[in-house]
Amino acid sequence: MDELRDLYQEVILDHNRRPKNFHKIEDATHSAVGHNPLCGDQLTVYLKVDDDDTILDIGFQGSGCAISKASASIMTGTLKGKRLEEARQLFGKFHSMLTGMGGPGHVIDGKLAVFQGVAEFPARVKCASLAWHTVIAAMDAQEDPISTE
Ligand code: ZN
Repeated sequence: MDELRDLYQEVILDHNRRPKNFHKIEDATHSAVGHNPLCGDQLTVYLKVDDDDTILDIGFQGSGCAISKASASIMTGTLKGKRLEEARQLFGKFHSMLTGMGGPGHVIDGKLAVFQGVAEFPARVKCASLAWHTVIAAMDAQEDPISTE
């Protein structure tokens, strides 16, 4: 188990050093800014979504701790090509895993599983979920336009 944990940590550190999709999307259809004041993580997420609700492109910029950056990197890789509805469902599963609500048998596919250990550190849950909360905020803003008035 320790060996597995070390491996997962290595994946996180690697994504932190060389984040994927770490760029602004100039012709984004959706974007939002997310802030985690507990840790100082701040991210902007950009989405380019087509008429069929498919995420054609996704990127992020910002600064934060290794967990927040690695989570954004892995999330963008996971969500590219998915539909908005699938993205919401995945966030539900991911959040359940982070908060330990999925139960001991809860399994999540692919690279997102590297964050399983975060459930043991409640203060880090917000770091790992920041990018996801930001993506959902970006989607919601588009579906239900926000007003500054
Ligand atoms: Zn953080």
